Amino acid sequence: MKRIFVLFLAMFSLMMNYSCSSDMTVPEHNPLLAEWTSDKNIPPFDKIRTEHYEPAFEVAMKMHNDEIDAIVRSEEEPTFENVILALDNAGIKLYDIYLLFGMLSSSDLDDTMQEVQNKMMPRIDDHFNAIMLNDSLFMRVEAVYNKRAELKLDELQTRLLEKTYNKFVRSGALLKGEKKERLKQINTELTMLSIRFGNNLLAENSNFILELNAQQVADLPEGVRKQAESAAKARGKEGYVFTLDKPSMLPFLTYSKNRDLRRELYNGYLMRGNNNNDKDNKEIVKQMTELRIEKAQLLGYKSYSHYVTADQMAGTPEAVYALLNEIWEPSLKSAKAELEEMQTMFKKDHPNETFEKSDWWYYAEKVRKEKYQLDEDAVRQYLSFDNVRNGMFTLANRLYKVTFRPMAAPRYHEECTVYEVIDVDNTHLGVLYLDPFPRSTKSGGAWCGNFSEQRYVNGVRRAPVVGVVCNFTPPVGDTPSLLTFDEAETLFHEFGHALHCLFADVKYRGLAEVEGDFVELPSQIMENWAFEPEILKTYATHYRTGEVIPDQLIRKIQRASLFNQGFVTTELTAAALIDMDIHSLEKMPKDFDVVKFENDNLAGRRGLFPEIAPRYRYTYFAHIFNGGYSSGYYFYLWAEVLDKHAFDAFKQSRDICDEKLAKSLRYDLLAQGGQYPGMEMYRKFRGESPDKKPMLRARGLWKDPEPVEEVTEAPKAEAPKSLFKQQPVQPGQRPAIQQQPVNKSGKAVKPDVAPKSITKVEPVKK
Ligand SMILES: [Zn+2]
Repeated sequence: MKRIFVLFLAMFSLMMNYSCSSDMTVPEHNPLLAEWTSDKNIPPFDKIRTEHYEPAFEVAMKMHNDEIDAIVRSEEEPTFENVILALDNAGIKLYDIYLLFGMLSSSDLDDTMQEVQNKMMPRIDDHFNAIMLNDSLFMRVEAVYNKRAELKLDELQTRLLEKTYNKFVRSGALLKGEKKERLKQINTELTMLSIRFGNNLLAENSNFILELNAQQVADLPEGVRKQAESAAKARGKEGYVFTLDKPSMLPFLTYSKNRDLRRELYNGYLMRGNNNNDKDNKEIVKQMTELRIEKAQLLGYKSYSHYVTADQMAGTPEAVYALLNEIWEPSLKSAKAELEEMQTMFKKDHPNETFEKSDWWYYAEKVRKEKYQLDEDAVRQYLSFDNVRNGMFTLANRLYKVTFRPMAAPRYHEECTVYEVIDVDNTHLGVLYLDPFPRSTKSGGAWCGNFSEQRYVNGVRRAPVVGVVCNFTPPVGDTPSLLTFDEAETLFHEFGHALHCLFADVKYRGLAEVEGDFVELPSQIMENWAFEPEILKTYATHYRTGEVIPDQLIRKIQRASLFNQGFVTTELTAAALIDMDIHSLEKMPKDFDVVKFENDNLAGRRGLFPEIAPRYRYTYFAHIFNGGYSSGYYFYLWAEVLDKHAFDAFKQSRDICDEKLAKSLRYDLLAQGGQYPGMEMYRKFRGESPDKKPMLRARGLWKDPEPVEEVTEAPKAEAPKSLFKQQPVQPGQRPAIQQQPVNKSGKAVKPDVAPKSITKVEPVKK
């Protein structure tokens, strides 16, 4: 996933002051408010209790308001330092607690944390919204902005000023009177609805289980059976339990011969939030959509998608649609061909029945075994979690010369492992927490975020503390965690986000954030290395025998790599499309029906066939109704254009760990945060604009014409439609970005959830 920061404010001297003064203003010692004494900036996980959050939030909001008041009440002439920089340095304590709470409530949301979340998140949203709509504050920001030409600011200062000003404008600072009041109301309602959406989904997830007896699981691989057995035990039940979490559901759909049970489980998944019970999300989706339309139009945009994309690399919904549409037709065609192949097998098993959505995984696996002789379960024997983790650490060391060393440190959960990250010059770069396995209180999916962000304090870089949280197949008995392809790839993905956080060397907090459609570049590019034979051989050894993965198996993996890409690309693009569709509405249709709207747009208008469901449907699309991806699920595809083209540079260099390229990737791009526009950083690294061909090729949607010629400079006339590369870069012109479509999408992108409360905070997830 990814990070979407709120506004930030803040930093050094003020923070020190606050840490000291807080003990005086708070009656009892609160570790969240005290100065964190770890020399590595590790939060005092061992001291924090749930009851600390609420008072800490209250005090931190008060501190923040005092800082804002000081900026507003200053009698000095508004300057970059006393307004823009002061704002950047305000609210640090609040932000620190907010970040931490977001991460911890996603990885452990028990009832008491949920209470705090329900109570405090709306208050904090209101707090930030009130600052962004503070007229007196905005007048001072505007005063500095209006005289920016004469201020002699350097490049980063100018960017910070512009970003700060734009953030206020996008938050409604230019609105007056009633309109401004209405916007405040809308923001509050949206927050409440989003929390309800997330809570409903959590309840729907845990309310459904499939309980089976030994005979019903006899055809499943042993590992899958064991996992279901321990899931049953954890619930105090006999037998075997399957849930709607993907690590539980997908193996069942893949291996169970029982169609009825497959259907029952998958329908449970598809119907979440759509069961006409008290956890139904249809009305919430409708209300949120309506409020978002109103919000966008108050702010001067035609639709919510126009509002969101204006601030992204894509620039407009049209640019996003252009990409998605270009992917849609060929992937649908390719998925149809896959379906036909499966139909033949299906008809042998069930001559008089019709293939259904819930049959896809089972028959895809059959084809994979028969046509490609690839048995995923056999591959998993080489992908123990420890192996894959060591593989990515080794890769990071090869590319960037950084070392991951286990360290003792306070942990928020006993299942975490902690690593100190040592830089090439032996200095401390940051800390990484890994939290790989599911818990009943953990959100689904996988994500990465900061427990403690990188920033500058008195001119010195304060190293970050980063967490990668996943829901991988857990170890069972004496069998270690054996990852699927997708899981191994997800680990590399989240690790890519982690490196982005760890490498950050950003001067101003307000410049930490990158565009949403850039965020998945650092993560997705790591996936490219995961299954390169050269890399695979460094980590994929059999968990029992220690044998290195055989070449023959690697060849099978490569041959099968395009298999099922039609399906994966179709379900992913379908989700991105329905996200754009609902957020591109300019007014709410009369008698709006969420389910019908989805069907009309996908099956009706675009020809999606009934054997495939979009990866997410509206009633459980947490990314867009309870995460930071509204009108942004396309980010994954957009960034895939970038990551495949970026990785192509390594391939072309004939050394996939080329030192010079890796160095540029780190220092010109990953370390920069949002100090420069994404496209500018990308071109600096890549030496040219993104080309979407490598992405289409990787998904089997593009074949190079034969004979393949060495590409020199000739424009590739055969390249599908327009897109990136063809926009000539205008030398010296930087914000060409708005028009510069890029994109990509992810193959088996693993994006899953957006941790509930974090919305604005961070989690990256694939
Ligand atoms: Zn991600």
